[in-house]
Amino acid sequence: MTDQKTEQLEEMPADWQRALAVVAHPDDLEYGCAAAIAGWTDQGREVAYLLATRGEAGIDGIAPAECAPLREREQRASAAVVGVSVVEFLDHKDGVVEYGTGLRRDIAAAIRRHRPELVITLNHRDTWGGTAWNTPDHRAVGRATLDAAADAGNRWIFPELISEQGLEPWDGVRWVAVAGSTSPTHAVDAGPGLERSVASLLEHRMYIEGLTEQDPQEYCRTFLTRMAEMAAPRFGGRPAVTFELFGR
Ligand SMILES: [Zn+2]
Repeated sequence: MTDQKTEQLEEMPADWQRALAVVAHPDDLEYGCAAAIAGWTDQGREVAYLLATRGEAGIDGIAPAECAPLREREQRASAAVVGVSVVEFLDHKDGVVEYGTGLRRDIAAAIRRHRPELVITLNHRDTWGGTAWNTPDHRAVGRATLDAAADAGNRWIFPELISEQGLEPWDGVRWVAVAGSTSPTHAVDAGPGLERSVASLLEHRMYIEGLTEQDPQEYCRTFLTRMAEMAAPRFGGRPAVTFELFGR
């Protein structure tokens, strides 16, 4: 038996050029993953973001119609901070995203367009560990992303993507990396990208101001530093962003 709390995490693979990150909401990537993305874009890798919703149900005091464009703007700004200029939205409905073939098809189409070797998503499991229940949108999008990585490579699944959109199969996804997983296997040094990840999360200012009374800068820095340090004992003492890596 190995001890899951002390077993060392492996370095994430480095032999790839293009990644596509697929998540449910604006801010999902900024809560912990953006430090890794900053490091990757520094190395000249291309990362694109695909969001299933515009996060329009995310701020109690702002109605969805007004909230959607605001959160889209915040997401584009926060992506730019970590070197990501391609941000796409699928317009599924925030809070009630349904796992199913519609969602799988939309994600598979994006994978065929972007042709990534690495796909990134957020925790698809029921909890964040212990009894902290995950949200239905994260579960649906995470699971659909893991599935769509294979769908994208099969011409007979969603054949309309070829006949209607000219999207030929892409069988080049080698890994799906799940951020925020309760069972991480791999990690990336968060150090080089940590400051920019704080700035990136801070771009979700309206969302954060609706969330906490704390000073936004202080809130972002404390949260992300603590997250990265929690992983350090399993990554040679280095603050880290962790992933559960599924090979294909
Ligand atoms: Zn979310």
